[in-house]
Amino acid sequence: MNHAKLKAIAREYGTPVFVVDHDVIRSNYRAFKKHLPRVQAYYAVKANSAPEIVRTLYKIGASFDVASMPEFKLVYDNIRHLPAKERQDFIWDKIIYAHPIKANQTLIELDQYKPLVTYDNYEEIRKIRKYAPHAGLVLRIKVPNTGAMVELSSKFGADPGEAVKLIKAAHDAGLTVEGISFHVGSQTTNFQNYVQALQVASGIFREAWSRGFDKMIQLDIGGGFPAPYDENVRPFKELAATLNAEFDRLFPKKVAILAEPGRYMIATAGTAVAEVIGKADRDGKRCYYINDGVYHTYSGIIFDHCKYPVKAFKKGPTQICSVFGPTCDALDTIGLAEQLPELKLGDLVYSENIGAYSAASSTYFNGFPPAKVVHINM
Ligand SMILES: *Cc1c(COP(=O)(O)O)cnc(C)c1O
Repeated sequence: MNHAKLKAIAREYGTPVFVVDHDVIRSNYRAFKKHLPRVQAYYAVKANSAPEIVRTLYKIGASFDVASMPEFKLVYDNIRHLPAKERQDFIWDKIIYAHPIKANQTLIELDQYKPLVTYDNYEEIRKIRKYAPHAGLVLRIKVPNTGAMVELSSKFGADPGEAVKLIKAAHDAGLTVEGISFHVGSQTTNFQNYVQALQVASGIFREAWSRGFDKMIQLDIGGGFPAPYDENVRPFKELAATLNAEFDRLFPKKVAILAEPGRYMIATAGTAVAEVIGKADRDGKRCYYINDGVYHTYSGIIFDHCKYPVKAFKKGPTQICSVFGPTCDALDTIGLAEQLPELKLGDLVYSENIGAYSAASSTYFNGFPPAKVVHINM
């Protein structure tokens, strides 16, 4: 993001400030569509649930992946006033409830919308039959998450060997299973995870069709599309070419393909700007204290296993510094090896590519509120 613009925003709104550039969101969405023309993108709202982001993505044609009732309502309330087809189609087209485990109360509230929901076990079939009998189902399977930055396969996903039994069980309970979903792990730079998952999914489709489950027509390839945090991440174009070849090889045209990109859509659209509020030399190392940290916009360091290099607007020879957040907790450490020039109190620092899983899990810990959020180019 443009430096002068970031500094002007920090001056106008104060710090810490979290800037979301909607031009970048739109360009990420367009690149996704362009390179994966067969795939409808359901933005995973948990990556950053600002309603402004939902509206921008809706306007350019995105659908949404939600995983809680508040997320469902957030999307529903921000899009439903816009032109809709028949309600059931509209919801299935625009929202998937992609959490395999849902509380009874959530199912009760969801049922009126005839939602599309994921499941991965027998207990969930019983719950859905009882509390959300109008839901359509998508079976989440477990696939290799090798090398992903955030692993998900230990928490969710039916064993592929059990898949057809679970489809039959839902069918026997009077429910309709419409497809298969998986998640290869977040920030997946090992593209073979997708290839393996697609092969497993294709085998399950074939077996299900041969058993007469011909309502199975949706393939949900989940999230995991990597953001370009560093030069080791191979271009999205390359991943897309691999995926497109596998789609054509393994899935007949009757299979509708959807994906749930979270990080990919939003990571590069967010920039955090903070201010140096303290400075000390400890054990021969320069330490800067800034007014944003891991309980706030930098929360992804903890929850997302992510790194966000801290940069200064100021030029000059750099040294290796520690950068800490504002709270009393030593865990509130942004980096122990940041390359920064000599900074004064009041100088601004920033981190780029911090749009995903950052502000989303900011807290009020120690009395420090989350950074202000400023949306630009809406
Ligand atoms: C978190 C999540 C996503 C988004 O994952 P990214 O790696 O951010 O793309 C998609 N689908 C489900 C079910 C998730 O839990």
